[in-house]
Amino acid sequence: MPIVLRAWLPAVMLALAGGCDPGNGDNSDPLPLPSGGAGGGGGEQVGGGGSPSNGGSGGIGPSGGGGEGGQVSTGGGGSGEGACDSGGPVLETAGATDAYLLKGTLLLPGGPTEGELLIAGNLIACVGASCSGEPEADGATVIDTKGVIAPGLIDAHNHILFDIFDEDDWAPTQTYTNHDQWPNDDRYGAMVDAKQYLAGEGSSPVDFGCELDKYGEIKALVAGTTSVQGSPGATNRGCYRTVARTIDQTYNGLPDDNMQTATVFPSTSSADGVCNNFNDGDTTAYVIHIGEGVDATARDEFNDLFTVTSTDGCLYDDKTTIVHGTALDDAQLTTMGDNGMSLVWSPRSNVFLYGAGTDTSKTTNIPKALAEGINVAIAPDWSIGGSQNMLDELRYADFVDDAEFGNMLDSRDLFEMATSHAAIALGVEAYVGSLVEGKRADIAVFLPSGADPYEAVLAASPREVTLVFVDGRLLYGDADLVDVGPSDGICETVDMCCRDKFLCIAQSGGSAADMLGQTLADIQQALGDAMTDYDDLNLTEWDFAPITPVVKCP
Ligand SMILES: [Zn+2]
Repeated sequence: MPIVLRAWLPAVMLALAGGCDPGNGDNSDPLPLPSGGAGGGGGEQVGGGGSPSNGGSGGIGPSGGGGEGGQVSTGGGGSGEGACDSGGPVLETAGATDAYLLKGTLLLPGGPTEGELLIAGNLIACVGASCSGEPEADGATVIDTKGVIAPGLIDAHNHILFDIFDEDDWAPTQTYTNHDQWPNDDRYGAMVDAKQYLAGEGSSPVDFGCELDKYGEIKALVAGTTSVQGSPGATNRGCYRTVARTIDQTYNGLPDDNMQTATVFPSTSSADGVCNNFNDGDTTAYVIHIGEGVDATARDEFNDLFTVTSTDGCLYDDKTTIVHGTALDDAQLTTMGDNGMSLVWSPRSNVFLYGAGTDTSKTTNIPKALAEGINVAIAPDWSIGGSQNMLDELRYADFVDDAEFGNMLDSRDLFEMATSHAAIALGVEAYVGSLVEGKRADIAVFLPSGADPYEAVLAASPREVTLVFVDGRLLYGDADLVDVGPSDGICETVDMCCRDKFLCIAQSGGSAADMLGQTLADIQQALGDAMTDYDDLNLTEWDFAPITPVVKCP
């Protein structure tokens, strides 16, 4: 049984939840979509140049003081009573905390079906109409989820160290046409400085890199996301291995880390290194920003990717995943399809940066990409501009699909872009991304909201995410199930948009060195204090405290 912290720490109240309407438990309405100005989400790149693994630049820049970051207030949390807590999973048998039998609507590769899923250790041991006869089911904890049992969502692209910010910290001051332009904005630079200070980069005297990464992973986890490609830099740190799967790092919980990421265009030597890694099997996914923008500068990057290597075209490979590709023309998308390349689509980021937050045409040509057979994944890019998590981004993608693509994507298409297609884009489909026996037990359960179980995912906020397992560990869920959380977990009670939840990202036995004992409350306190301390240095004219909440409630 986990250790349960019942204290409601002020920091949790501040940064979690808000905007609760206890009288209305129905959360089927989508989140508000952009209505002008700085609408959309997620930007990019930490300034030009630099290494592919860590696009950081500049130090802790000097300049004036004052200013105001002006965070969105999300109001207070609710009491989690009445309709807020209705429905949800029912604990039938409190058994082992390393074996779970889940009942509900399974989103299997072939489609939805009523049945059972058995978790044994860190693996899916059984999926089907009945798993209760399996030997691993003996002594398992049995939960009737009353919901939709899905593979955990996979965030195939994020700049996770920036996820303490939102569009009130920085938003475009003009409509850009490529990714080289906005990093020159003064306020953007000031925000990067603040991030670098907290992350311990450059000459920073502090290091909250672990807390930054964990905070971003918590934001993902509560939205049913079990893996994040967060590009936190070249340094592999075990301190964040207790939250979501840090899929592009050594501590990803998988046998190998065969993923390479690049936020900036590679040098020839770097690109040649990737090709060598392709050839000898060291790299099974190369995830690179290409074609971010709407002009020729962005578009030409795809052609340059062909010639940058000593052997032309060796990066036109099915192991290469293009992040954005917003500027790519029809011929380039045909080339991508011909070479089996994948694409990560981040529509809210695109519209935020290149469409003034409202012009939904300023995004990747998804109909053409799909017509060319390109494997397309969805990811938020970061939390600045709107999408705080994968669920937000899925809803925005649906909005863009309706506005621009004639509603060609149904709820299942979008769901697969966030799960199985994302796994392929990252080269980890053997382990995660679908409910298949033998794959890792990365599971998210969503409250149903209608006849179509895929719509339940699209309609969900973290409130409707009722259980999340990462590698078989139950890390998040409805509060009344906390006793069946990880046996070594230190669990917090949190109010998630008017519904009580537990969160077990801390482990007993953690030390100051490994940081594995940190709770969300600890992390919020550390980051909030550090941001305030940074603001108090008055190095720029803007302040960035407080940090963005874990979730913005619908
Ligand atoms: Zn990006």
